[in-house]
Amino acid sequence: MRRPYIAGNWKMNLTPSEGAAYAASLAEAVAKEKPSCRIMIAPSFVSIPAVLEAVKGSDIIVAAQNMADHLAGAYTGEVSGQMLLDLGVKTVILGHSERRQYYGETDEIINSKVLLALSLGMDVVLCVGETLEERKSGNLENVLKRQLEVGLKDVKPEQMEKITIAYEPVWAIGTGETATPEDADAAHKFIRSTVAAIYSSSIAENLVIQYGGSVKAGNVKALMAKENVDGALVGGASLSLEQFLPIITYDK
Ligand code: PEP
Repeated sequence: MRRPYIAGNWKMNLTPSEGAAYAASLAEAVAKEKPSCRIMIAPSFVSIPAVLEAVKGSDIIVAAQNMADHLAGAYTGEVSGQMLLDLGVKTVILGHSERRQYYGETDEIINSKVLLALSLGMDVVLCVGETLEERKSGNLENVLKRQLEVGLKDVKPEQMEKITIAYEPVWAIGTGETATPEDADAAHKFIRSTVAAIYSSSIAENLVIQYGGSVKAGNVKALMAKENVDGALVGGASLSLEQFLPIITYDK
């Protein structure tokens, strides 16, 4: 049984004090509403300490949105996995399309980050997804296959329990466009079959696959009702309690 997993990627939004105030109200709401899903929030690096403090005692996972592809050294402006672990952060989002698009992260770079995070014992949310051009030209499956095969290269079968996949069609991120629940389910099914081919059907069956791309209170129920959709990675609608609470309590 895959436990639903809903995550909020704050991107470069909310200052440390704004983030801490919101996270404290989220922790309070979670204590009251007791959502059945696993909940994660990913603030910016500088907000992490204040947010960790604000959610102390709750089950909310605080993750990083990225990390360096090196352990330590002369890499100005980077944040290492060890630094995150030292703060108490055990989960990292890797390969987000904005990292791929704006910061030139290739599947190979993302793979080295995945391997590094796993070697440190961290949990990884690995993002994959196609652009509109790739979808329109019939390359959806080729793109997902490449992103999974290269992104997971040298990841051992026993490490796969540390991996969550987030399927995020690039054309649906921050655009208000959402893949239909049927489109999302078909892509997730393909991801699961690709993971089954690389590893095994039992690893694929246990793999949690989140959908991301303009998820909101109004569409989360229909997406989560699909067999292969096990959660959501939410951007814009994760930035306020008003929008995020109905998403994480979608089944109430
Ligand atoms: C995201 O950043 O991962 C995302 C899906 O953003 P949004 O929900 O705003 O489309």
